[in-house]
Amino acid sequence: MPSAEHDEGLGNERAKDATMADSWLHTAFAYAPWLIFALIVLVAYLATRSHEKVAAPTVQTYSCAACGRRGRREQMVQVAHEGAVSWYCARCAD
Ligand SMILES: [Zn+2]
Repeated sequence: MPSAEHDEGLGNERAKDATMADSWLHTAFAYAPWLIFALIVLVAYLATRSHEKVAAPTVQTYSCAACGRRGRREQMVQVAHEGAVSWYCARCAD
C-alpha cells in the first residue's frame, strides 16, 4: 500500500518538525535566564564604568573662609569654632 506508507511518512515528518520546534523552545527557555543574567551583569558593569568616569574628575574643593581661594581637602586647614567649621588655605591658617 504505497498511499499508506506515504501518509505515514508525512506523519513522521510532521512529528519530527514538532519535536524540533519543541526542543528549540526548550533550549530557548533553558538559556533565557542565563541570557537575562548576562544582560544584567553587562548593564551593571557598564553603569559602574560610566559612573567612575563621571566621578573621577569631580574632586571636592573648599574655599578659604578668609581669602576665598579654593583648594582640595588636603590643601586646606579645617578650623572649628563654636560648632561651625571653616576651611582656611595654608597661607591664611598661619
Ligand atoms: Zn586664604
